[in-house]
Amino acid sequence: MSLQSSTNRALRISAFLADGMVSRHWADEEALREGARALRRVCVEKVYLDVSRGTHPNVEALTRARDVFREFGLEVGGGLTPVQGREFGEASSSKWWWLCYTSAATARDVENAARVCARLFDEVLVDDLMATDCRCARCEAAKGGLGWDVFYQRLLAEFASKHIIEPAREENPRVRVIIKYPQWYDGFHLYGYEVEEHPRSFDLLWVGTETRDIEYEYVEPYQAFANYRWLVSIAGEKVRGGWFDQIECYPEVYLEQAYQTVLAGAPEIALFVPTPDYLARGNAMIEALREELPRLRELARVLRGRTPEGVVVYKPRGSDPGDEAYLFDVLGAMGIPVAPSAELPEDAACVVLGVHAAADASVVKRLKALVERGATVLLTGGFLARCGDPEVLSLAGQGAPPERVSEWCFRFEAEGNKCRSATKVPFRWALRPGAAKVLARAQGEGGWFPILTENLLPSGARVLAMPIRGAEYGEPLALVVPEPLTFVQLARPVVQLVRDRLLAPLGIGFSAPNRVALYPYGGGVCAVANYTWREAKVEVEDARWGGREVREWLRGAAVAEADGKRQVVVSPRTTILLMPKGEESG
Ligand SMILES: [Zn+2]
Repeated sequence: MSLQSSTNRALRISAFLADGMVSRHWADEEALREGARALRRVCVEKVYLDVSRGTHPNVEALTRARDVFREFGLEVGGGLTPVQGREFGEASSSKWWWLCYTSAATARDVENAARVCARLFDEVLVDDLMATDCRCARCEAAKGGLGWDVFYQRLLAEFASKHIIEPAREENPRVRVIIKYPQWYDGFHLYGYEVEEHPRSFDLLWVGTETRDIEYEYVEPYQAFANYRWLVSIAGEKVRGGWFDQIECYPEVYLEQAYQTVLAGAPEIALFVPTPDYLARGNAMIEALREELPRLRELARVLRGRTPEGVVVYKPRGSDPGDEAYLFDVLGAMGIPVAPSAELPEDAACVVLGVHAAADASVVKRLKALVERGATVLLTGGFLARCGDPEVLSLAGQGAPPERVSEWCFRFEAEGNKCRSATKVPFRWALRPGAAKVLARAQGEGGWFPILTENLLPSGARVLAMPIRGAEYGEPLALVVPEPLTFVQLARPVVQLVRDRLLAPLGIGFSAPNRVALYPYGGGVCAVANYTWREAKVEVEDARWGGREVREWLRGAAVAEADGKRQVVVSPRTTILLMPKGEESG
């Protein structure tokens, strides 16, 4: 097999054609043929035809589209988008597109769409609107004494099995029913996206990697990677692809989404809503993707079979984030590579426990076991406050639980040296250390207060504490990141203190401006993504490199060496790959 074909096979491009595209844009055979040619031109190999999007399936149009696309060598699967429509299902009582899932009309119409889809195709990919916030009288009665979050999760797990998966399998025993999760992982549990039963009952999972323009939706590019990896920690090999769109995008963001999806390990990328305008020659986003595709494929080839490495950040299934929503993204954007996990591995060398982890009733016991083994652990302010366990406070060298504050700071002190951040950074907790050493402080309205402490234990364990602030969901609830993750702007010298300590157990060193992220993989292969509009000078070291030559593999950027560290300049909004000699074959 040639290198070229092995590279092409490492990453497949598909497209999800929302219902409406076939009826509106490609309504007759000639238009369909044009559509198929446009899809082929942008290297799409497979399409998923959406049979329902608030509409009843049009079997004739779907069959025609399927057959024409097949003529052009496209593989064709089916899809289904459960949303309200004028004559479809029963709307949720809220303002969003969602359905009410205690409604007989919803059950009847979604089930019919699933049956039709399975008769036409061997795949039923359920788009990420299978969520609800309905508070109608019937839902209220069905909820009983449960919280809305628990009720929605149970309701949708049962609904999906009974009205989508089972009917689809009845119609077509070969069918694979796929759930596509949205990207807003810290809000899943609020709206019925549960991660216990769905990953068991669905055949495969797809992951939303649509981070879009951060100015509109406050989503750090790292979220695409983190969401994918957290779902892999739950569903493993069942996770088969990432999915993003061109909504609220410009070419740099669009490509960033593609890179994050490949860095996360997706063997397939689905492009959402590739309308004729978007597929047209000269469209800035699609042309950017076409130009970058050989590099994306080469990246996928190199990373195939290599697991991303990082600091384990523990988020149990369904756990609430408190004021640390999107903690994975905050850490990632601070240049701390994370391995998001729904489990807490006993042998982890380095772990971050945030508010999420406090949802685990046995977390104190597990933390003690990690510390006895000499692990490095960072406990967030929110974790210390919510857990409140005296033994945990003692392990962290805290004299008392953190104190609630409301401060926005830009003056800091890192190991006694004064420094500033580019913008004010929020704090909701001030640490109250006892035996722990204070590594960094912030100046707030109420004076200087500790924001990073370290407690070294006889086992060799290092217990850090830091009041990291993420986002906080309030009422009315937002869907994606509810507020900017300003904490990622923390003064660089403070970031460097915590980064050095968390990366040391992994044998890695990284120095870079904020919002430049690191992605280490097996064998010492390592990617760096610059999310900023400025060139970033970065320094990386990895114990596995030894004396080996290290090259930048995707763009041929110059790599200099000083004191065992490799220095490279990363262009704005660009991802690079550092490759130690001997790892090139992937
Ligand atoms: Zn309802």
